[in-house]
Amino acid sequence: MDFINHQLFIKDINVHIDPILPKKIAIITHAHADHARYGHEEVIATKQTVDIMKIRYGENCAKKYTILRYGQKHKIKDYQITLYPAGHILGSAQVLIEKNNHRLVVTGDYKVGRDETCKNFELIKCDTLITEATFGLPIFQHPDPKEEIKKLINSIKKNKSSCHIIGAYALGKAQRIMNLLRKNNYSNTIYIHGSLEKLCNYYKSQKINIGAFEKVVSKDKSFYEGKIIIAPPSALKDKWSRRFPNPIICMASGWMTIKQRAKQRGVELPLVISDHSDWNELVETIKKSKAKKILVTHGQEDALVYYCKQNNLVSKPLSIQGRDDEEIE
Ligand SMILES: [Zn+2]
Ligand SMILES: [Zn+2]
Repeated sequence: MDFINHQLFIKDINVHIDPILPKKIAIITHAHADHARYGHEEVIATKQTVDIMKIRYGENCAKKYTILRYGQKHKIKDYQITLYPAGHILGSAQVLIEKNNHRLVVTGDYKVGRDETCKNFELIKCDTLITEATFGLPIFQHPDPKEEIKKLINSIKKNKSSCHIIGAYALGKAQRIMNLLRKNNYSNTIYIHGSLEKLCNYYKSQKINIGAFEKVVSKDKSFYEGKIIIAPPSALKDKWSRRFPNPIICMASGWMTIKQRAKQRGVELPLVISDHSDWNELVETIKKSKAKKILVTHGQEDALVYYCKQNNLVSKPLSIQGRDDEEIE
């Protein structure tokens, strides 16, 4: 493990993983803003991550792109780098770094549960595991997303003169909600906030089933009766959401487990749908990886570190500065 430091920097080859500041070589696990930044000299990532970075930051957001397929090996001096699916959002990857027979995995953000909008998480056996811990407390037990979507569909049936506005992070979560609705046979057009349009078009171009969608435009209030609108969580708070008829505010996030949080945000219909692992998924992944050393980052480290120590694993928190969870906004 000593070849990587607490900032996820590999000094020998001058490579950073998900750095916050512009660097010479950056491996980017996925295109969420707290991982993918503008201005690196070289970005190493999957094609979809690079595509989404370009959509969000422009064609020239890095000087050079090295695109890796999942499973494709990339050598830098005596280090071998391979990306594997993380099951978090489209294009998301875990990073396996091998040197002298030591295998180190950085999970990035990940979830084990199935999600049709991206490739499923792949478990990688390793010696050292650096895992995220956004929901690293035993209280977080994410329910089946299909059941959560049913709550939404039932509410739509019951409240025909209302519109449902769902707060969902623009990249990944919004498209997953759309896909889950389609899987539950919801076939009407879904209306989206303008800021989601390019990303939804991209998901569509990648053959992800999100069905028909249209940007919200000013129409008669009554037009939106009975409709579903998806918007980034920040839009729920401002004037934007007030133009709709009897809006029922929903929010799709792992944080909706905490009822208090939903209440504070004025969420009437909380949907516990997360793109991060819950406690059980974190613990299972740690066990199955067979890693002897577990470094915990990006969230609620303490409980998971304690769990690892109880199970005779070497473990400590890694605090990486500047990481905010995208689900909070
Ligand atoms: Zn993320
Ligand atoms: Zn993150």
